[in-house]
Amino acid sequence: MNQTSPDRRPAAIAGPNMQALRWLTRGACWRLAVLALVAGGLGCAAWWTMIRMPLQSYQGPLPPLTAAEQQLRDRLQQHVTALAGDIGERNVFTPRQLAAAADWIESVLADAGYTVASQSYPVQAVSCRNLEAAIPGRSRPEEIIVVGAHYDSVSGSPGANDNGSAVAALLELARAWAGSQPARTVRWVAFVNEEPPFFQTARMGSLVYARACRARGDNIVAMLSLETIGYYDDRPGSQQYPFPVGLFYPSRGDFLAFVSNTANAGLVRECIRVFREQAAFPSQGAALPGWLPGIGWSDHWAFWQVGYPALMVTDTAPFRYPHYHRASDTPDQLDYDRLARVTTGLHQVVEALANP
Ligand SMILES: [Zn+2]
Repeated sequence: MNQTSPDRRPAAIAGPNMQALRWLTRGACWRLAVLALVAGGLGCAAWWTMIRMPLQSYQGPLPPLTAAEQQLRDRLQQHVTALAGDIGERNVFTPRQLAAAADWIESVLADAGYTVASQSYPVQAVSCRNLEAAIPGRSRPEEIIVVGAHYDSVSGSPGANDNGSAVAALLELARAWAGSQPARTVRWVAFVNEEPPFFQTARMGSLVYARACRARGDNIVAMLSLETIGYYDDRPGSQQYPFPVGLFYPSRGDFLAFVSNTANAGLVRECIRVFREQAAFPSQGAALPGWLPGIGWSDHWAFWQVGYPALMVTDTAPFRYPHYHRASDTPDQLDYDRLARVTTGLHQVVEALANP
């Protein structure tokens, strides 16, 4: 009685088990299909909102520099040499050089015809200054465009590309715009203390500036942070990305990038559309989650903190430039031809923002 047929028992178990297995398999297939659909849908939605950009990036050989661009290139090189060659490392730990850099920027803007406003605050007994030159808007003066670049360099680096390249572009944009009458107000701002250890702290120059703007009730409608824009490399594999961003972008580091968080996707698309219409230069746009490495790594982050729309314009800095934050970030490493091209393109972007 306690013996069971070895043939019957497995059959009795196999029957319901096979049924259950079939049910499970059917369920799993169905669930997998739904999962695949959801993942595909999310992927499409992510691509549509974060990566899709208007028009095409410029491809092909770059046209010869115009005479005006050649002059611009030479001035840009002079500015980078003055900041990163003559003055060199400039931050709170080299206070004499930090002050020299601020004085020099102030004098270039003053020579261009601006009255320069200083926003000073102490850090470790060093007086730190943000510098601002403004063009009042003609018809919509309360709507403000801020174009900014940090002028400090990280400890141990002369900061030619980071961020002498962008300060040079800022100064040349300001010079070109001096005396013009845009519809909106345009402010050119050179920020102090973007680099560590002040980065994303209350002593970061752009955060001090943005908070003061918010406290005054300034209506900043767009902020462009120019961050490390002077290095380009045509070789395949010369461009790196935080994972998984590289799946969607080119491997050659020959482009200018317009970068912000997902909340500012509209601003990214607006700016890159103008750049692609006007500039014969490769460009990429990304409106990615702000927590991804690199997306918030400049002064635009400070404007996000107080609710202003802001993006970064960059050559992608650590994701391309081998001399990033090193003593070897010297003026001879930059591509001044291409710096002139992107500065010319950015002029058009500011033009479109300032005269909507
Ligand atoms: Zn920087």
